[in-house]
Amino acid sequence: MDLLDTLTAKGLRGEAPTREEALAVLATTDDELLDVVAAAGKVRRRWFGRRVKLNYLVNLKSGLCPEDCNYCSQRLGSKAEILKYTWLKPDQAADAARAGVAGGAKRVCLVASGRGPTDRDIDRVTDTMAAIKDADPEVEICVCLGLLSDNQAERLKAAGADAYNHNLNTSENTYGDIATTHTYADRVDTVQKAHGAGLSACSGLIAGMGETDEDLVDVVFALRELGSDSVPVNFLIPFEGTPLAKEWNLTPQRCLRILAMVRFVNPDTEVRIAGGREVHLRSMQPLGLHIANSIFLGDYLTSEGQAGQTDLDMIKDAGFEVEGAGEATLPRHRADVAAAASGCGTAASACGSAASACGSGGGCGPCGGHSHDAPVSETADESGDSGDSAYSRDSADELRSDLVKVRLRGAGTELAPNA
Ligand code: SF4
Repeated sequence: MDLLDTLTAKGLRGEAPTREEALAVLATTDDELLDVVAAAGKVRRRWFGRRVKLNYLVNLKSGLCPEDCNYCSQRLGSKAEILKYTWLKPDQAADAARAGVAGGAKRVCLVASGRGPTDRDIDRVTDTMAAIKDADPEVEICVCLGLLSDNQAERLKAAGADAYNHNLNTSENTYGDIATTHTYADRVDTVQKAHGAGLSACSGLIAGMGETDEDLVDVVFALRELGSDSVPVNFLIPFEGTPLAKEWNLTPQRCLRILAMVRFVNPDTEVRIAGGREVHLRSMQPLGLHIANSIFLGDYLTSEGQAGQTDLDMIKDAGFEVEGAGEATLPRHRADVAAAASGCGTAASACGSAASACGSGGGCGPCGGHSHDAPVSETADESGDSGDSAYSRDSADELRSDLVKVRLRGAGTELAPNA
């Protein structure tokens, strides 16, 4: 049985590949790419059918962060010409959220720059969540405020948050290369605090920062071990004015391999294509939908995405459907575990999603009530054609800063949001 047969069979059973198998996915050739996508697509459809969950980002507080994450346009010392503003008022945030929900999003992701929230910030977000849920009680809310202190996750949960996003971003070994003001262990601690409080854990990665394949595999297995319900996969947006502005080392083919590897390691977890989707996948975005079951609608935290209607058209044209508010995101066995952890006894707060910690992408959210645990009619005999495991890294993209468009509409502006 070759690599893709093995990975498909394991994925259909909800099992992870070995580390070596995950590395081999990243080493497949362009000739094998469609076979890789097809194999990952079988696993995706087994657990998520043809549904695509839409998530909508609301940047509550933009820029001026004291942390030094190299990938982030909001970092200390960033020269990126992004919007900078302090906390949106609850009604302003609720207006932006409403636009996203009207556009088809079932989850709203409330994100604020900064190391972590003060207790006063938790009060602000509590008021904001109340304003959003007053207008639409069904909407899922994921919160992303940075590192949490004791009892803050419990306060957010009690205030109605469904999920908390905090990305690991990269491997433990290389974390010190992308940020020095906090550690990988700090990030793990916050994900555990959120999970421990009964919030759905949303935690993912950023690819394209100069990491090795081993780093990518390390962080993806770490996310599985942490029990993240949702794994946002960000592709670095190299903002002018940040230390990684020249890190254009992704191709659409490389992005698809990374997504496939994430799917095989986390077969029954929400996998979201997060920041950098349009910039790096470009015309190959629809192939990504065969692997991931979740995306952000419209714009990101500090950059603009394609028009929300274009997202919807893409989903429809590719033969997928937008996941409805009454549909559960996660398979029942995952939803039940999350519900038990939260002590709520329903399958309500099981999913996850969320945005890239703050810098390059963005997004979060919980689930509904139905089950999608039943297979959607796939068989396990996809014949892959991987064979050639020779490592062939894609050639780097040229500098494509023309593809990066700073967000100048929506939250924090007088202009309508893109949704
Ligand atoms: S990722 Fe978050 S913590 Fe890091 S610099 Fe950006 S806003 Fe600050």
